[in-house]
Amino acid sequence: MRDTIEILGVNIDRITADYALRKAEQMVRRPGLSMIFTPNPEIVMAAYEDQGFRDILNSADMCTPDGIGVVYAAKMLGTPVPERVPGFDLTCGLLESIRKTGEGVFLFGAKPGVAELAADNLKDKYPGLIVSGVHDGYFSDDENDEIITQINDSGAKLLLVCLGAPKQEKWIYENRNKLSGINLCMGVGGALDVFAGVVKRAPDVFIKLNLEWFYRFCKNPSRLGRFAALPRFMLTVKKNGKKR
Ligand code: UDP
Repeated sequence: MRDTIEILGVNIDRITADYALRKAEQMVRRPGLSMIFTPNPEIVMAAYEDQGFRDILNSADMCTPDGIGVVYAAKMLGTPVPERVPGFDLTCGLLESIRKTGEGVFLFGAKPGVAELAADNLKDKYPGLIVSGVHDGYFSDDENDEIITQINDSGAKLLLVCLGAPKQEKWIYENRNKLSGINLCMGVGGALDVFAGVVKRAPDVFIKLNLEWFYRFCKNPSRLGRFAALPRFMLTVKKNGKKR
């Protein structure tokens, strides 16, 4: 039975990072598709304004509180979550786990060439990891079925979908019944860019101080519009609480 709270109509799991990893490990070994999404304030705000997207997030088997804004919002609503559970960290934990147990991962998303680079780096970082296949995230509708076949034929059990939100969540939801070989599908945004070294993650000190967002903003001020979603999110939560 999941212990979730609602923030602006989106169900978020009240979980620790350790618990999330244990659940994800079970999902990747259990036949039948499970879906994990990692909503940050920007994603919750988008879902608040789009019922279809909200329903997709709420169809997940787990939604981790990714982003310190989600943690603050939960606290403000009187239903705190234990800690922030970034999708990136959960992914790293899961790759460390499956490198020992042998389930393969398929890397789907990012610009052409990035997933290949990420695969090389991941095989160095996680010796024994099986990267069953890769595909970039820039494709036409006509190519979709071909990509699904490639994923299913690869033998992967874990599928990382890195198309950015809400594209990745929508893609996962729309194709969930076709992904016959996959046990666990996760939407993890820019993770492949980080694994490939195309984008650097914030230094640990920023992560510990919950200032990762600030580091990303300084590195790329053109993201200002995206960060403006944070105060808007907090105000909307204050005004409207849990429900849409
Ligand atoms: N992307 C993609 N296909 C698209 C649009 C985006 O593969 O049609 C990729 C993009 O190249 C990047 C990732 O999706 O690797 C999104 O990164 P972003 O930093 O926006 O994600 P976030 O983690 O902030 O959601």
